[in-house]
Amino acid sequence: MPPMAESMPYWTARVLTLFPDMFPGTLGFSLSGTALKKGIWELETLDIRNFARNKHRNVDGAPFGGGPGMVMRPDVVGAALESVGPKTQPVYLTPRGSPLTQEKVRAFVSQGEVTILCGRFEGVDERVLEAYDLDQVCIGDFVLSGGEPAAMVLIDACVRLLPGVVGNETSVWNESFEEGLLEYPQYTRPEIWDGRAVPAPLVSGHHERIREWRRKAAENATRERRPDLWALRNERNMAVKD
Ligand code: SAH
Repeated sequence: MPPMAESMPYWTARVLTLFPDMFPGTLGFSLSGTALKKGIWELETLDIRNFARNKHRNVDGAPFGGGPGMVMRPDVVGAALESVGPKTQPVYLTPRGSPLTQEKVRAFVSQGEVTILCGRFEGVDERVLEAYDLDQVCIGDFVLSGGEPAAMVLIDACVRLLPGVVGNETSVWNESFEEGLLEYPQYTRPEIWDGRAVPAPLVSGHHERIREWRRKAAENATRERRPDLWALRNERNMAVKD
């Protein structure tokens, strides 16, 4: 399918942030950058600071109950979310969220748009997360200094699934996680490098043998590196057989 006219993007990402100048950042380069210029997707940033109404334009306050750091105020974040109006369920990026998965990425793509709230400091007042029913999503078991790099990760993963972004569209179906497996290892020229040969089946020209080698390599990698994924896959396979 060719990309449609500039007036009609396939997908919109809306980012609520205290640092709108960080965007498009990495998203302005390579595949996502080209797609942004072509109008395949659209990026809107909202500066949360514009919704601070008190005279010092405070966006944060000390945590009730004490402790280090500052917390983003619910009145300010609430006003920013309110300005977006009724759209799809907004996402709050937080280490306290449920993990971002390829399945979840596909769901964000099919809903046509996503609104993302980026936290800073110690995070956002819990009441505003409840009041606006935010979908709390975590990009990994580590702590970043802000939600912006996490938003770029989420958006990048979505944009590469849009039609016309990755050249060979079948390639996005073949990748790590798509079948509950990590991908097989990849090789290119030269056929012998530094005394190391490419695995023989890959240069055999024998399609069945190549497929078989790749399937085994994918299974081995998953079993060794991601026992959690491997167990989940076996559970699902059992369920199918039952
Ligand atoms: N005090 C918080 C961490 C705050 S980090 C806690 O312990 O849970 C500041 C902001 O960075 C968060 O509000 C969130 O928006 C973002 N962030 C940090 N790590 C993240 C992760 N792993 N996934 C998604 N967002 C993250």
